[in-house]
Order: sequence, then C-alpha cells, then structure tokens
Amino acid sequence: MKFINQVEPVYGKEEVKAVNEYLHSGGWLMEFKKTQEFEQAIGRFTGTKYCSVVSNGTVSLFIALKSLGIGHGDEVIVPDITMAATPNAVILSGATPVFVDIEEESLCLDVRKVERAITKKTKAVMHVSLNGRAGELSKLKKLCRNKKIHLIEDAAQSLGSFYRGKHIGTYGVIGSFSFSVPKIITTGQGGALITDNLKLHEQIKRLKDFGRLQGGADFYEQIGWNFKFTDLQAVIGIEQMKKLKKRIIRKKKIFKLYQELLSKIKIVKFIKTDLKQTTPWFVDIFVPQREKLMVYLKENQIGSRIIYPALHSQPVYNIMKGNYSVSKKVAASGLWLPSAVSLTDRQIKYVCQKIKEFFQ
Ligand SMILES: *Cc1c(COP(=O)(O)O)cnc(C)c1O
Repeated sequence: MKFINQVEPVYGKEEVKAVNEYLHSGGWLMEFKKTQEFEQAIGRFTGTKYCSVVSNGTVSLFIALKSLGIGHGDEVIVPDITMAATPNAVILSGATPVFVDIEEESLCLDVRKVERAITKKTKAVMHVSLNGRAGELSKLKKLCRNKKIHLIEDAAQSLGSFYRGKHIGTYGVIGSFSFSVPKIITTGQGGALITDNLKLHEQIKRLKDFGRLQGGADFYEQIGWNFKFTDLQAVIGIEQMKKLKKRIIRKKKIFKLYQELLSKIKIVKFIKTDLKQTTPWFVDIFVPQREKLMVYLKENQIGSRIIYPALHSQPVYNIMKGNYSVSKKVAASGLWLPSAVSLTDRQIKYVCQKIKEFFQ
C-alpha cells in the first residue's frame, strides 16, 4: 500500500502544458505579464481591488508591516498558536511580537485578551484565520479601529474561506496569503498581499522591488528589497486558481466525511465548523494520546502532523509565562490528519478505521 501523505502538492496536465507553452514562448521567467494575470485572478476571487504577489507568505507579512511603517520600538499582537512565520515576520520588521491567547471555538485570537494586551507601543494586530476559521473578526476590527491600530490579516490558510459572506483577508487593511506546498493552491513558494488601498498597494510594489517605482528606473526615495515573483511560477498559479472552486468543494467534503466517520468515537473532538463559510485547510482533531496515535498511524502507512506548539513556550521567544491556558490545551491535543485534495473517500475510510482501532 502507498503511504498516505498528510499533505502533498496536487497538479496535473494543465500545469505541465502551461509551463511547456510558456517556456516555448521565449518568456523571460521573471515577474511580468503572467504574474499580473495571476494577481488579477486572486483579486477577482477575493473581491479586492489590488493584489501583489511576492516570494512567499513570510515576506508578504514583512512587507505588510513595512508598508504601514511598522518597525523598531513597535509592538504587534499575534496569536500564540500560529505558524512561526507570523511572529518571525514581526521580528524581521524590527518590531516585537506580543503573543496573545486564542479562543477554543475557532483557534483565533481571543479579542478580550487582545484588548488587555494593547499598550502605547501597539501598532498592529495580526489576525490569523487558522485553518480558514475567522473567529471574531468583526469585533477585532472594531477594537482596532477604536484603538487606532492596524489590523493585518495573515490569511495564509484561508484562500477559499469567507466570514459573513466576504472573503477572509479583506477585513484587515492588508490581507496576506501563501502558496507554499501545503496550501490549497501552490506555486512551490509564493505569497500575496491584497488591499483596497491604492497608496498602500503602490507602497507594497515599491518595497518588493528595491524601493523603486519601476524596473530600470534607478531613482531611490526609500529602501526596498527584492521579493518579486516569477512568471514561471505564475503560469502554474493561474492553472491552480482555475481549480480552486473544485478544491473548495472537495476540502469541505473531506472534512465532513472525517467528521461523520469519527462521530462514534466520542474521544475524538472536532471544532464546530461552518462549512458554508469555512474551507478547512487541514482536518484538525483533538485527542488524548496524540503521539501514540501518530506512531500507530505511521505504522499503518498514514501521515499526520502535530498542530503548532504554543509559541510562548518555545525557547527562542523566551517568554514562558503569561495567561495562555487555551493555547496550551490546544497545542497538547491537536493533530492534523491527511488532508490533501487528492485524498480519496476510500483512503479517508481507511484512516478512520485505523483511528477506531487505536482507541478500541
Ligand atoms: C504557510 C503560512 C505562513 C508562511 O507562508 P510561507 O509561504 O511558507 O512563507 C504564514 N502564516 C501562516 C498562518 C501559514 O500557514
């Protein structure tokens, strides 16, 4: 039997054909028309005016912070459970990440605890819609407006997920996506920033291109870097975007099937998830004896992955204390099951059968 990966990139003959055609067309590989086409597709899908794609979803967060003038001496609130890229982008900007606990219902920032963590130095909150769930995004937006701080959305896991009918990533002043391999669409590496603010969009474009207004125009009013995309990746991205609607349907079906098949094992807990709005990126379950289950699954040719740690507990951030009761609990029991869009119903049934066996 073939090993069932927890996640894998999915692409087919459409991508092969597009890359082949592009290379035969004599394209220059670098960011150009295909990249613009990819950006337009993301803008259209999310219902945003402007989109800039960049090298990955970590530098997109960095650029988001820099475009808002955030850096040394500033504080940025981030959830205690997220990918390390969220706080690390804050550190790269020169600012300090302030970890705040999450709420158990959505795994997103606890807005009441955010309010308590705001200081004179707080310049932004980075909301992470973990696994496509939005939490109390409206409340958070209101709080940020009242406190005059920026709301940035790390929506890396949320392409295809909505909140109150609007695409996630459009509530913040800037929304950020990632196209790394585990994400719902992939270009190998890649990130995107969406915004409705033209001035910010122009600033983002300058920052990702050495600070200049235009390639070849070497006149510098500000510092910038090189976080540009490539047309070679964009031709893959364009094909992946065409498949997004189908993938959204499949991801929801995968989540639902797991939920149904595991419903009889009371020990396996799911987060209540509104599949009309949320496209679960990964299937997340919460169980005791998680490490043993993971080993058992692996012995049976099934990949799984332990959810992110509570970041405050990681030696590198050197925080350790604070009120993180929910994130500690979640980090101690969360497990991601196989979740690739290529997963078949038969494979899901097999995985659930093995989980049943383990707990019997
Ligand atoms: C994937 C991810 C990132 C980082 O994106 P990369 O493209 O891998 O740099 C950031 N934040 C979250 C929540 C992610 O899931």
